[in-house]
Amino acid sequence: MSKPKHLSDGNVPPFREGDRGKLPSFGGAGGGRKYEHLFFDLDNTLWDFDTNARLAMQETVSQLKIESQLPDFDSFYHFYEQVNTSLWEAYRKQEIRKPELIKKRFEDSLAHFQIEGIDPVEMNDLYLKIMPRQKQLVTGALETLSYLKSKRYHLHIITNGFKEVQHAKINTCGLAPYFEGVFISEEIQAPKPDKRIFKHALMNCNAKKSKSIMIGDSFETDILGANQFGMDSIHLQKNTNSTDTPPVFTNLSQNTDNIPPTTPSFKTGIIENLTQLLDIF
Ligand SMILES: [Mg+2]
Repeated sequence: MSKPKHLSDGNVPPFREGDRGKLPSFGGAGGGRKYEHLFFDLDNTLWDFDTNARLAMQETVSQLKIESQLPDFDSFYHFYEQVNTSLWEAYRKQEIRKPELIKKRFEDSLAHFQIEGIDPVEMNDLYLKIMPRQKQLVTGALETLSYLKSKRYHLHIITNGFKEVQHAKINTCGLAPYFEGVFISEEIQAPKPDKRIFKHALMNCNAKKSKSIMIGDSFETDILGANQFGMDSIHLQKNTNSTDTPPVFTNLSQNTDNIPPTTPSFKTGIIENLTQLLDIF
């Protein structure tokens, strides 16, 4: 394992909001560490959801032998993703419940392509059985976790999802040994960005907010959620292209309707791949 390039001498520099590529190091000797508890998101932060979900859907479609009824797999998957995303949004806002979410995403997709004779709930069950068997991780995940574990950070997961699926993913793909706490929205009854899941996780880990940081790929759930709760965060922006403007975190309270103007804005850094955490911690 290579030594982090910018080990702090104990004078921890300020964590500058949105200052891409210039994150300070918090792993330094001498002055104590800024953070002790690192809370990771799971999907698309550690477990490569985009790749794995697509592979699982390909196998589901294949097992149900409906490929010949589709114009092509990509069209089906693209439609499904759109339906699924909007249903998850409604689920997060508690406008719909799990049974409606899992049925409707397949019911609508099958109806759109005029496929008959497939039970949407059975298709969902098959898909959710196949999905956690997929093992593709986000680039650098195991290397980064091994390093952080060797530095004796306390590592935990806070994830939105169904308990049976998320536990199976973590156990199958080799992530389980790295984590002390795993907090799944369905079990806590509060999905990110709801403050309650962060509060529950930190209390269970006996972690102070000031010693904790959230690392995730979703601005809306991981970053805003952590900030609203009052903890710092690191936003993994994997597909950043250089012309993108980083979010302006200093004006968060003015720009976001659901944050009261008096809420202080907590610190957020930006990384483009997980191994940059080796330089920070
Ligand atoms: Mg995610």
